[in-house]
Amino acid sequence: MEISGRTGLLGLIGSPVGHSGSPAMYNYSFEILDLDYKYLAFDIPVEKTEDAVNAFRTFNMKGGNVTMPCKGEVAKYMDELSPASRIIGACNTIINKDGKLIGDITDGKGYVRNLKENGVDIKGKKMTIMGAGGAATAIQVQAALDGAREISIFNKKDAFFEKAQKTVESIKKEVPDCIVNLFDIDDTETLYAEIATSDILTNATLIGMKPYDNETNIKDTSVFRKDLVVTDVVYNPIKTKMILDAEEAGCKVIGGKGMLLYQGVEAFKLFMECEMPVEEVKAKYY
Ligand code: NAD
Repeated sequence: MEISGRTGLLGLIGSPVGHSGSPAMYNYSFEILDLDYKYLAFDIPVEKTEDAVNAFRTFNMKGGNVTMPCKGEVAKYMDELSPASRIIGACNTIINKDGKLIGDITDGKGYVRNLKENGVDIKGKKMTIMGAGGAATAIQVQAALDGAREISIFNKKDAFFEKAQKTVESIKKEVPDCIVNLFDIDDTETLYAEIATSDILTNATLIGMKPYDNETNIKDTSVFRKDLVVTDVVYNPIKTKMILDAEEAGCKVIGGKGMLLYQGVEAFKLFMECEMPVEEVKAKYY
């Protein structure tokens, strides 16, 4: 599609962005849907975040995405934040609603949508989730907002443990109906007991990806009951050791690639107010 005087602009901000697949995926979607927009990637260091947000306003950009290291900083300059962004204090999506910039975060929405696409509804479910970093926090908050009954979080007693304590407090305050607890991941007895009463098990730690690709947090594979849904956010490798072990035990397994796709699909829906052509995008890029 040719660029005209009316072509609208969207963009990704963060650093580095050169490797990002977002411009290709979104521009391909605009082409398929015959939408007169272009999406570019802008390398923005964290100290230039405010300037970049001002550029969104000046150029009346339709919207865009935010990656590290700007995800937290950008939240300060939005006119409004979604409930998930407010609780987490970060955004990966900017929506220009009639000149008002709204910040949202779609990592958790992408995870929940991926579950749904695989026939699993988070509502009313108990989830045991390992991890307390960026991906884990987004999933925990979105699962609570979307009606999960109970969330048991497990993490190492590293710097992320304190972050998890804050997430637990925020969920308790914002979504009081959701039961949420935090445990040490090295307490395997409690980990296995919580998995035994869960519907969904999620790995959102670095375990499973390089250099931990031959490792799993679940050493005792007897915890993999046939009615347990086992999910991983790691998408490289496509099937982690945990996913392979769970698959062998007969569990329904869901890998991380779908979350990656659907966080983009959910962002597209937010800033374009229509569905991305998912099947075409999946066929070309996933
Ligand atoms: P992060 O650095 O924010 O968090 C890392 C997490 O791993 C923390 O909970 C930390 O305690 C835990 N961890 C680190 N070393 C560990 C060890 N030796 N044993 C147990 N736990 C350990 O990272 P992140 O951005 O949340 O990413 C986590 C994973 O999720 C990565 O593999 C990343 O590629 C993946 N991810 C996937 C998607 C997706 O769309 N599928 C999105 C974001 C991240």
